[in-house]
Amino acid sequence: MASGGGIQIPSRLPLLLTHEGVLLPGSTVRFSVDSPRNMQLVSQRLLRGTSLKSTIIGVIPSTRDPEHDTADLPALHKIGTAGIAVQVVGSNWPKPHYTLLITGLCRFSVSSLLQERPFVLAEVEQLDKLEQYTTPSTEGVTAADGELGELSQKFYQAALQLLGMLDMSVPVVAKFRRLLDSLPKETLPDVVASMIRTSNKEKLQVLDAVSLEERFKKALPLLTRQIEGLKLLQKTRKKSPDNEKRVLSVRKDGVFPGKPFNLEEEDEDEDGDDTAALERKVQGAKMPETALKVCLKELKRLKKMPQSMPEYALTRNYLDLMVELPWSKSTKDCLDIRAARTLLDNDHYAMDKLKRRVLEYLAVRQLKTSLKGPILCFVGPPGVGKTSVGRSIARTLGREFHRISLGGVCDQSDIRGHRRTYVGSMPGRIINGLKTVAVNNPVFLLDEVDKLGKSLQGDPAAALLEVLDPEQNHSFTDHYLNVAFDLSQVLFIATANTTATIPPALLDRMEVLQVPGYTQEEKVEIAHRHLIPNQLEQHGLTPQQLHIPQDTTQVIISSYTREAGVRSLERKLGAICRAVAVKVAEGLTVTRTEAPTSDGPSQQGDKAAPPEMPIVIDLVALKDILGLPPFEMEVSERLTLPGVAVGLAWTPLGGEILFVEASRMEGEGQLTLTGQLGDVMKESAHLAISWLRANAKTYQLTNMVGGPDPLEGTDIHLHFPAGAVTKDGPSAGVTIVTCLASLFSGRLVRSDVAMTGEITLRGLVMPVGGIKDKVLAAHRAGIKRVILPKRNEKDLEELPSNVRADLDFVTAANLDEVLNAAFDGGFPGTASVHAHPQLTSKL
Ligand code: ADP
Repeated sequence: MASGGGIQIPSRLPLLLTHEGVLLPGSTVRFSVDSPRNMQLVSQRLLRGTSLKSTIIGVIPSTRDPEHDTADLPALHKIGTAGIAVQVVGSNWPKPHYTLLITGLCRFSVSSLLQERPFVLAEVEQLDKLEQYTTPSTEGVTAADGELGELSQKFYQAALQLLGMLDMSVPVVAKFRRLLDSLPKETLPDVVASMIRTSNKEKLQVLDAVSLEERFKKALPLLTRQIEGLKLLQKTRKKSPDNEKRVLSVRKDGVFPGKPFNLEEEDEDEDGDDTAALERKVQGAKMPETALKVCLKELKRLKKMPQSMPEYALTRNYLDLMVELPWSKSTKDCLDIRAARTLLDNDHYAMDKLKRRVLEYLAVRQLKTSLKGPILCFVGPPGVGKTSVGRSIARTLGREFHRISLGGVCDQSDIRGHRRTYVGSMPGRIINGLKTVAVNNPVFLLDEVDKLGKSLQGDPAAALLEVLDPEQNHSFTDHYLNVAFDLSQVLFIATANTTATIPPALLDRMEVLQVPGYTQEEKVEIAHRHLIPNQLEQHGLTPQQLHIPQDTTQVIISSYTREAGVRSLERKLGAICRAVAVKVAEGLTVTRTEAPTSDGPSQQGDKAAPPEMPIVIDLVALKDILGLPPFEMEVSERLTLPGVAVGLAWTPLGGEILFVEASRMEGEGQLTLTGQLGDVMKESAHLAISWLRANAKTYQLTNMVGGPDPLEGTDIHLHFPAGAVTKDGPSAGVTIVTCLASLFSGRLVRSDVAMTGEITLRGLVMPVGGIKDKVLAAHRAGIKRVILPKRNEKDLEELPSNVRADLDFVTAANLDEVLNAAFDGGFPGTASVHAHPQLTSKL
């Protein structure tokens, strides 16, 4: 078909060489181009052109244009598609490339090449007629065209059939539907072939079919294949997941021994057969007597009900669930303590104490072969590996693992299910979990037990207690099931961020194992031993392709994350892998498509897998991928004025450094506190002020005009920044004192000191909790000296030795010692300075 009338494309076309994706007339395809010739075409032709004509280019399939060695033109396909570039987007990362959006117009063949550089220019012959699409479809190809007309009619019908099977609410489908009637029929093969699932090779065949008849013949089987595929899919879908499983369980239980399993047959069963099959399944589900009785009763009711009745479906669903539950299906425990130790060690770095305790627990389980005993509860900040240890426990036991998230659950029916009288009633999460794992002895991880809520719908903690109580849980009754299910074989493990909000009765059942945060060094180790290898695997990369040096990991940890665990570290590493995966994937297509280019196969045989240098993520690449670091160390910057001190706080998310700021102004001795403080913290502030006033003389503290009472004619404002977080607890006492002492004396607090400790009115420093997390936070923030209560000295033993070595610890029994350690060269009036004749200033 030579170009007849209609619109003509230019006879000289610049050619875009594409090696993946085939553009067919009437479709729009996105191409990413980066070879020199294609880049030149874009920059010199598309981006410079001003006329519509200059946006028309020829898109020709080719083998890949080499990136560096531009000497030879790669092999070009004989036919290409002229198209309009409707969008051009340029980018420089990971390497310069353009993304073009091109709409295909018509086929062309290359008559002769006019130039190869800077881009390919060719004399072309237009192969398709390019009509203005004004003729309605019915007139495009008339029935008079004999075989062609028949073919096109058949094709049109098939396309209609395909559309009938698709969801009209999807925009693309709706658009396709509109197009189908408005397009001339001869354009259908191209348009349809580019829309349905076809391989590049198949698209090339359609492209090569220059005669319309041939094109219909090539495209029709593809369309038919898609329809058949969809039919099959819809058939399985229609069975709904429930039905599917039902059928499967028939197979597993062997209820139909010898009878071949057939989807069709099941579906078309008459009602009677259906209930009969269900009855067989009920009989075969090995459920306890009581449950069986209930099921048989329900079955009887079901048989009498017409299918159209809503209750039919409800009862049917109920019976389906009953049949599916693992009443007597369990996995065999295979506990080998030595193997368990290796496994735990291999999966997790550090956390020795926790691992030891878990092994003890497992060993006891093994010896006693009973599951009664406390429930383990891992308590610690997010991302420290609580879930992951739970998963390892399941693996060492050879059990199924299932996580039940309790965060925000405030309705007891979430745990215990809804009664079946409710519309849309469902079983609770425990029974649902059992259905999912399909065995009755899984490891259930009850995640976030500290975030259980309470509401009018009953207390979920009470329901959970029943689940966990070994005296009761062998006959746990879900409201939906309404018969008892034996949970005594389930191994429950709980996790929480803090024990403070776990309902006491629940806490009483559990053995709490603290999982503290990690130090910088531990995080680096975890990253290199576990997180990076895992992320590489998840993104289909190998260490030969991506290398993240330890220095980089250090920077990610200190400047891109601020956390006790390693969760955002893991996410950042994932982001790096994704970025590199894109780069590697682009590189891989080079190797894949280059192989067939070779004229002699042996020549380039070894080129198919060229040795690749790993992409090394240095600091420049890091900034490129992750952007500017969101966290900079700010401690020293903020301590440039008197009246600021750094405290250490404990939160459920780990330790934190906490700034305390104070300022004073003329007033009547009022104290203003801001920063969402709890009552205990407010009391600490009052205590601190009282103590400082009482000792103002000793420490030479003055008010703004130098008077002996720091509060005289003065208002004080104390602020705890990061106001969105509620803060409470007595441990900020020493920090408040230090901050105010700095304000009243006009001296700066040392910028590398952080502190924690409760105070008394008499100036004693009392011990506080969470020392390990707090010290780790100080270490993370680059603090050098930590002041803590004398009686917390023993807690320091728990710290990793490198942290202990990096920090200078001052243990203080009273505020005098605190002040002395917090200010450079001691604090005037403190004991140690007393020893020296400070009297000089008094003289
Ligand atoms: P949590 O349940 O405490 O919030 P996760 O178990 O989800 O934390 O851990 C987050 C990620 O960090 C997981 O990929 C986990 O494997 C990894 N991880 C945490 N701690 C360690 C560790 N000590 N060794 C190896 N990987 C760890």
